[in-house]
Amino acid sequence: LKNSGAEATAAIVTVGNELLYGETVDTNAAWLARSLAALGAPVVKKLTVGDVASEIRGAVREALAAADLVVVSGGLGPTADDVTKQAVADLLDRPLALDEGLLARLEELFRARGFREMPPLNRTQAEVPEGATVLRNQHGTAPGLALEVQAKLVVLLPGVPRELRGIFDGELRVLLSERFASRLRPVHHHVMHTTGIAESKLAELVEPRLPSDRGPVTLAYLPDLRGVDLRLSARGLSAAEAAAWFARYEAEVGPVIAPWRFEAQHGDLAEALNAALAAAGKRVAVAESCTGGLVAKRITDVPGSSEVFVGGVIAYDNAVKTAELGVSEEDLRRQGAVSEVVAAQMARGVAERFGVDAGIGVTGIAGPAGGTPEKPVGAVWIATALDGAVEAKLLHLVGNREAIRERSAQEAIARLYRRVTTEAGRGA
Ligand code: ATP
Repeated sequence: LKNSGAEATAAIVTVGNELLYGETVDTNAAWLARSLAALGAPVVKKLTVGDVASEIRGAVREALAAADLVVVSGGLGPTADDVTKQAVADLLDRPLALDEGLLARLEELFRARGFREMPPLNRTQAEVPEGATVLRNQHGTAPGLALEVQAKLVVLLPGVPRELRGIFDGELRVLLSERFASRLRPVHHHVMHTTGIAESKLAELVEPRLPSDRGPVTLAYLPDLRGVDLRLSARGLSAAEAAAWFARYEAEVGPVIAPWRFEAQHGDLAEALNAALAAAGKRVAVAESCTGGLVAKRITDVPGSSEVFVGGVIAYDNAVKTAELGVSEEDLRRQGAVSEVVAAQMARGVAERFGVDAGIGVTGIAGPAGGTPEKPVGAVWIATALDGAVEAKLLHLVGNREAIRERSAQEAIARLYRRVTTEAGRGA
């Protein structure tokens, strides 16, 4: 029965002058599209219109022609510029009528918020198009509305993101799952996280290993400043079927990307580092110059980081490097602050002074000023100390200040992560 009926498709209409003018970023459309894809009704069309009844009618008509499910967001409020409900009621010829149950709920809501009575303006929010199903809004006064239109479904949701998401994840998800049932084709994903390897290099390694029959699986490379995720997607399969396909890909691709791979539930390398440190029973301290605390932030962004992270020193000025980390004044003078010896002393110094097993030292030139021919912008030394042994590496990073700092922090976390996991792998 799984494949009975054609795949359900969806269209999104977002309403609001502020969306057209770019004053509000249309996050609802993106969020809805992701949620609908995950549910199994991929979006085939997105439209955005202003708070103009004729425009809304036109957009909903066009969306209905394109998809089985039309989700409209915005313009459900009580004020005169909120015209979505009336426009859709007119288009579908479903006159608005007062819903007594809804009115009672709204009045109760206002009493609960300390109003003696509901403002008359909000009474309009208890009016629903004939035959509409009312979807509970836990975060506001405008309920969601679902309307059967021949074989199709039109859903109206308020524009406030929190309200829209609440309704979708509440009653709407249940309604859609039942209404479209066997016509939903959920997408299953399997993500392989990598860091420290360029997208093109990764593709060179991965492409020859892909099964000749790719089956229902598609592959996407998703790069950002921190690394490249390889995302496998499979549509229209059961979870077990998708897992079997992903295992075939893992067997081929997994081994070649292993040196750059990490596992993290939320995709953050710092999660992987913290887990590795915890498993090894080790703690870390950081000494940061050009990253200004970013490494510490990344590590402490992960819940539970207190188990492995003790603290750090933002050693921006050389005086702090010497006084707080024990970096040699002579080395600073001779080699400069951005040098292997200084990075190494920072990593070792902070680990020793904080009495922990691991230290990270970062010193570099984030730009835009401060570069020289020998030490250009983007030259960053990363050092890691682990159980007294220090390793350092010079990076030549590209990008603006933000990119250089972000990449430096990522690389610092990566280097310590590799060392801790390699040591664990050797059974040390
Ligand atoms: P309510 O009845 O709760 O006021 P509404 O349906 O009237 O909701 P709008 O007036 O259209 O919603 O929008 C309310 C706010 O929600 C806007 O000021 C904007 O900040 C935000 N918003 C609206 N549409 C979107 C969207 N597509 N993406 C992100 N935010 C949005």
